[in-house]
Amino acid sequence: GPTLVWLRRDLRLADQPALQAACERGGPVIPVFIHAPEEEAPWQPGAASNWWLHHSINALDHDLRAQGSRLILRAGASLDTLRALIRETGATAVYWNRLYDPAIVLRDPDIKAGLRADGIEVHSFNAHLLIEPWEVATGQGRPYKVFSPFWKACLQRGIDRDPLPAPSELPRPEAWPDSLNPEQLGLLPAIDWAGGLRATWTPGEATARERLEAFLDNAVRAYAEGRDRPDQDGTSRLSPHLHFGEISPRQILRALRQAGLHPDSGGPEAFVRELGWRDFAHHVLYHFPHTPEQPLNPRFEAFPWRQADRDLRAWQRGETGIPIIDAAMQQLWETGWMHNRLRMVVASFLTKNLRLHWQHGAHWFWDALVDADLAANTLGWQWAGGCGADAAPYFRVFNPQTQGERHDPDGTFVRRFVPVLKDVETRYIHAPGAGGARGYPAPIVDLKASRQAALEAFEAVKNH
Ligand code: FAD
Repeated sequence: GPTLVWLRRDLRLADQPALQAACERGGPVIPVFIHAPEEEAPWQPGAASNWWLHHSINALDHDLRAQGSRLILRAGASLDTLRALIRETGATAVYWNRLYDPAIVLRDPDIKAGLRADGIEVHSFNAHLLIEPWEVATGQGRPYKVFSPFWKACLQRGIDRDPLPAPSELPRPEAWPDSLNPEQLGLLPAIDWAGGLRATWTPGEATARERLEAFLDNAVRAYAEGRDRPDQDGTSRLSPHLHFGEISPRQILRALRQAGLHPDSGGPEAFVRELGWRDFAHHVLYHFPHTPEQPLNPRFEAFPWRQADRDLRAWQRGETGIPIIDAAMQQLWETGWMHNRLRMVVASFLTKNLRLHWQHGAHWFWDALVDADLAANTLGWQWAGGCGADAAPYFRVFNPQTQGERHDPDGTFVRRFVPVLKDVETRYIHAPGAGGARGYPAPIVDLKASRQAALEAFEAVKNH
């Protein structure tokens, strides 16, 4: 009988283990996407992610049709929907690729068991990571909490495996089951605020490949330094494509080698290490599934976070009076993405200078990022909040002004995203001061005093 390939965040045809195995099994292949966001609660995808998903589903359907196949869309509880599709199509197998978010890790084994009890053949595969969370452990057999030894263990194990080619033929069923239109999933915003996203991104497997190729032609060689410059195009911007599985980390490794770029030194090494951070984030989330809500370091449960809704709103809207923070928050709002250096700087500012709970930041990012990813976002926010998997227990407080001067030395980035500052002289651009530029607010917080207060609050929990 036919095989259902249950697609989730693996919206591609190449290096697609579940799809490949379904083709090898023989018989018709029916690609299915089931919209069941409530099964991911409390972290169901946010608004920017939904925008991406809508377009990515469309792109995948288009690519499948070019192969004589198509994508069947359904909405409803996943197990019930799979069972209904099995009844309608006579399918005898269901294949998918694994995910690692806590809600899905709880759900999928039940689905597997339920279908197997019905006599259905079920297989799951790794399409998403170089190393799955259970494939490496410390000498004591425990999960890693520190990146360097984790990555060393991954490299020792070997991360470079051949990606699978796209299947040359997708055998189709005699009749296709009913499908919803993408519009019926209601993923697009009711009020169209997505103009900035449309201007910045094109979801889909083909664009992911183009973006990778452009990066390998150019920025990757200087990546070790270029990755810290938000005023330049120094990083790959593959994060949303990777999150939705439009491209796989294995394909990236392979493309590096094919371009003659050795992942053992220089820019390519630094870039591959970031893919290592991506795996590490999944490792930590899988083994510490409470971390989206609770600090990895339990001492921080007692941290004296402030409550200050006005400060939170000023941060969210980019109205803090600190140019690099405001420009970064505007980049997030406009494009659904923020440069990594700035994610660290705005997160430090929120959790240290404003001393607001990192959860507020994590939730704002969750809704606004096109690459919102529970593993990476949780790791990033816990790191910034000082309560996560961190090699240096030192309570890092970035000075946003110094960070701006160092990483946006000409103020190009600030001018682009905070137009009222566009005529400010470069030497004042990162600290225009009160009245420095008409229409730009004075800083909502004193950087020195708030840094001191944060360090004192940290001392208190340290000895808790
Ligand atoms: P590149 O520099 O080109 O890196 C290549 C890929 O490596 C990225 O696409 C990403 O998949 C992975 N990667 C890079 N850095 C990290 C990292 N620190 N942790 C995990 N994976 C990484 N990344 C997300 O994908 N989703 C998030 O929701 C997210 N939230 C973050 C929140 C905070 C507070 C911080 C500090 C970081 C967060 N990151 C998140 C990590 C990082 O900022 C982004 O992955 C990166 O900016 C994406 O841009 P890029 O594709 O150009 O990265």
